Amino acid sequence: MFITIKFKKIMGLISCIIGIWLLTYGVINVNNQKVIFTSSEIFEPNYIIVIDAGHGEPDGGAVSVNGIRESDLNLQVAKLLEEELIGLGYEVIMTRKDENNIADNDLQSSTIRKIKVSDINNRIDITNNSNADMLISIHMNKFSSEKYYGWQTFYKKNSSYSKILAENIQKGINNNIERENKRTELPIENIKLIDKSKIPAVIVECGFLSNIEDVRLLQTEEYRKQIVNGIIEGIEEFYSIDK
Ligand SMILES: [Zn+2]
Repeated sequence: MFITIKFKKIMGLISCIIGIWLLTYGVINVNNQKVIFTSSEIFEPNYIIVIDAGHGEPDGGAVSVNGIRESDLNLQVAKLLEEELIGLGYEVIMTRKDENNIADNDLQSSTIRKIKVSDINNRIDITNNSNADMLISIHMNKFSSEKYYGWQTFYKKNSSYSKILAENIQKGINNNIERENKRTELPIENIKLIDKSKIPAVIVECGFLSNIEDVRLLQTEEYRKQIVNGIIEGIEEFYSIDK
């Protein structure tokens, strides 16, 4: 997915909203951070996780200069994450299990736009009917400059749990990969699946398809495993936080 983040424009609004939340819902202290929990977000763990491999035929997502498609890498990371989480005792629900989109069957010969709308709506339905604790959406980034590399997490805007989850996954991957990465988790909106998710939702952008080294590493199982181990470290940290 190509994501353009508008870093600054929400900051003024946020301080105002936080002030109102402080008065309305109070504050608790988690990991030495002040974190605000809304009364609508009550966390009762079911240890069920929705994994979303972004895109799917005919939507390949971003493509690297040497022709590596985001949709394929997303699925490889998602499947590895699924396998590891099941091994740890979690229940996993995959939005897609193969290279294909999950739009309604009667739309498969329709326009790409109609396929995409149905595909995303079905991912939303899977997520919101899952009884899961979280949605982890796997994507790859791409940028106009080749110099940017590495992973970054994004979280559903205005969702405290999503933020905590994204923060811990970012740290988890940092701990598992010996490459410099100073990025921090960022809020995101106008991504329909994330906006409509009723459970904590994060996007893990595993690397940049515009960066040759990222593409090389992401094609190796060893590196994907490091990414997955980092995501799991973040998930387990999220569950361990006293909410
Ligand atoms: Zn994507």
